[in-house]
Amino acid sequence: MSDLSGKVSLVTGSGRGIGRAIAIALAEAGSDVAVNYSHSKDAAEEVVKLITAMGRKSKAYKANVGNLEEVRTMVEQVTKDFGPVQVLVNNAGINRDKTFVRMTPEQFKEVIDVNLIGQAMVTHAVVPAMMKTDWGRIIFISSVNGQRGSFGQTNYAAAKAGLIALAKSLALELARNNITVNCVAPGFTETDMTAGMPPDVLEKIKSSVLMKRQAKPEEIAYCVTFLASPKAGYITGDTVNVNGGLYM
Ligand code: NAP
Repeated sequence: MSDLSGKVSLVTGSGRGIGRAIAIALAEAGSDVAVNYSHSKDAAEEVVKLITAMGRKSKAYKANVGNLEEVRTMVEQVTKDFGPVQVLVNNAGINRDKTFVRMTPEQFKEVIDVNLIGQAMVTHAVVPAMMKTDWGRIIFISSVNGQRGSFGQTNYAAAKAGLIALAKSLALELARNNITVNCVAPGFTETDMTAGMPPDVLEKIKSSVLMKRQAKPEEIAYCVTFLASPKAGYITGDTVNVNGGLYM
C-alpha cells in the first residue's frame, strides 16, 4: 500500500524502540533510510545492517537532536550521502518524570530541548532542500500525554503538545510546496521508555486502554509509513492517534 521506492528518509532516534521499527518499516516500503542515534551506536549499526540486507541504502549518523551544530552537520552529511531528505520522521525523545514542584528547571528544559526544540531544529535543517524538490513528508512523534496531560510529566506533555501546534503551523506554510506535516500520537508502547514503569502502574494503564494492552512499536510504525506514502498526500496538519482507545 505504501510505496516509498527511491525515497530518502531520515528517522531521528532510530537505533531503538519506536524509531527502530519506523526505520525498518520505511525500508520495507522501499525507502533508503538514514538512521540517527545519540548514544546507541551498536543498535543503530544493527538497524543499518537489517536495512542494507533488504537491498536499501542505509547509514548511521550520531547527533544529539538537542545540539544545533550536531543537527546541521548530520543533515549536511545525510544530504551528501543520500540526496535531499524527502521523508523526515522526528521520533527522538526522552522523559525526566517528576511532579512539577520537584522537577528542577534543568530537567524541565532538557526535555523541551530534545523533544520540542530538537525536533524543530532537525526540521529547520531539512526543510529548505525539501521545498526545492516540491515534495515531502514530515511526521512528528507526539504522545497521548501531550493531548490529555500526564501526572509527573509537565515537561514531556508540554513538549508533545507543542509538536501538535508546530505541525499544524508548519502544514500551513509548506502546503504550497506539496509537503505534508502531521503528528502521530502513540499511546503506551512496549519500549525501553515504558519498561522501567512499576508493574502495578503499567497494569492500571493497560486496564484503562480499550484494547487492554500496550502497543507494539510496529503498530506505530505502520501508521507513520502510511502518512509517509505518496497516497497520503491529502492528509496534513493532523494528529493520528495510535493509542488503543485510551484517548479519543
Ligand atoms: P526509547 O525506547 O527510550 O527510545 C528513545 C530513542 O530516542 C532512542 O533511539 C534514543 O537514541 C533517541 N534519543 C533520545 N534522546 C536523543 C537525542 N538527544 N538525540 C537523538 N536521539 C535521541 O523510547 P520510545 O518509546 O521508542 O520513544 C520514541 C518516541 O515515541 C519518543 O519521542 C517518545 O516520546 C514517543 N512516545 C513513546 C511512547 C511509549 O509509550 N513508548 C508513547 C508515546 C510517545 P539513543 O539511545 O541513541 O540515545
